[in-house]
Amino acid sequence: MRSDKVALRDLGHSLAGQAPGLSAQALIRLIYQKLGQHVALASSLGPEDQVLTDMICQVNPNPRIFTIDTGRLPQQTHDLIEQTSQRYRINITIFFPQAMAVERLVNTYGPNLFYQSLQLRRRCCHVRKVQPLRRALRGLKAWICGLRIEQSITRRDLEPITWDQTYGIIKVCPLTDWTTEQVWQYIHDHNVPYNRLHDVGYTSIGCAPCTRPVLPGEDIRAGRWWWEGPEHKECGLHRITRQGG
Ligand code: SF4
Repeated sequence: MRSDKVALRDLGHSLAGQAPGLSAQALIRLIYQKLGQHVALASSLGPEDQVLTDMICQVNPNPRIFTIDTGRLPQQTHDLIEQTSQRYRINITIFFPQAMAVERLVNTYGPNLFYQSLQLRRRCCHVRKVQPLRRALRGLKAWICGLRIEQSITRRDLEPITWDQTYGIIKVCPLTDWTTEQVWQYIHDHNVPYNRLHDVGYTSIGCAPCTRPVLPGEDIRAGRWWWEGPEHKECGLHRITRQGG
């Protein structure tokens, strides 16, 4: 078992060495060639994940794509799950948090605990997002996600392929150096479905109580956990480390 992990980590390092200079599409092709069905896209249904869904479906007509329903998502995100599944004729697997863990959390701290402190907000994200993600990643060799360097100061060290020490699998971020303009250009050029909340001022969309529209000129993630400083705006799903870290 341990030697399997070491071999996978070595493969991750080798793939990381091949990544510089590859386009997002070429990176996706490389990952599917090497790892086949042991790869999944973790989609939050954000614009980047929608671009990746479109690209992946061109390489693999039956891809593994999953999302996490925290129980607090906006209706528009549920609408987009259906719309995307129909458009690409795919199944998007939905993972949920454990009911008893949510019950314990909410009955101890109240339904809106995230506004009380950073610690409780992180605990809510842990129960509703991180724990289901751990289950979703079980048995995979690589996960693909739509993180970009431009999104946040917490993502400035992002690299296209890394060994994800937290979950013990390869992590692939094909859009690391894409700009927001490139993402939206791709969406419009390819008629990719997107969350209708983007049309009314939302730039980054997560759970309903932790997301608001942004004002002109504000940072794209300013509407996420808007009561917190920019250095805290992560839900715990992503720990950004340099290759080899
Ligand atoms: S984004 Fe908000 S509601 Fe969603 S899991 Fe995190 S703290 Fe909880």
